[in-house]
Amino acid sequence: MAKFKRILLKLSGESLQGRQGYGIDKERLTEYAAQIKEIADMGVQIGIVIGGGNIFRGLSGAAGGFDRVKGDQMGMLATAINSLALSSALGAAGVKARVMTAVRMEPIGEFYNKWKAIEALERGEVVIMACGTGQPYFTTDTGSSLRGIEIEADVMLKGTRVDGIYTADPEKDPTATRFDDISYDEVLRRGLRVMDITATAMCKENNLPIQVFNMDCPGNLRRVVEGEAVGTFVHP
Ligand code: UDP
Repeated sequence: MAKFKRILLKLSGESLQGRQGYGIDKERLTEYAAQIKEIADMGVQIGIVIGGGNIFRGLSGAAGGFDRVKGDQMGMLATAINSLALSSALGAAGVKARVMTAVRMEPIGEFYNKWKAIEALERGEVVIMACGTGQPYFTTDTGSSLRGIEIEADVMLKGTRVDGIYTADPEKDPTATRFDDISYDEVLRRGLRVMDITATAMCKENNLPIQVFNMDCPGNLRRVVEGEAVGTFVHP
């Protein structure tokens, strides 16, 4: 039994690169599609926002001499590439998926519209919302907070490479401990970098809870959707 009727799943672009260090790892993509199919088969309505860090990030582009706004636009295009890749993998797995984009680029994707997205979700299609917010200086975390709120998702599921939110970076600090749950205020007060401040503040102001979990562990997405305490729950 699914605990949620409608979810917004945030996937980072970086996790799509798998062990390659760049681009799209076909195996990882297929594995993600299989996990998404599992919950689609349970009747969960699924909106997805995917990052672009495996291809291009505006901020690092700017550090390398690119114009920031053009760099961010390149980053948004990177999210469109990842969205197409995921929709293709979902199609191959027998899951109907459509890509909507925050920036007009038909026929690559349909221009995003809240009501069209909800109609598709209610028909059982997975809706992948590309290009983040469509604006520079934002991230796909903020894009996923925004879309999660707009499509009236019950929860944002943030699939990452770590199994939740820690007191410090567990890859650098062996004494770091994991939170089972934490409030938005504490995330902000402790300066925990689970999402950027804008994204966390938007979820807080609009009461969208977040479950942070390790998406690289097959079966975890289903466990979270079934209500198992996998990862860290961020709440008001
Ligand atoms: N981006 C943007 N506006 C948005 C979302 C993303 O300009 O609303 C750009 C930004 O340059 C960002 C890049 O797209 O660095 C890729 O997104 P993000 O870094 O969030 O990807 P992730 O870290 O999740 O892979």
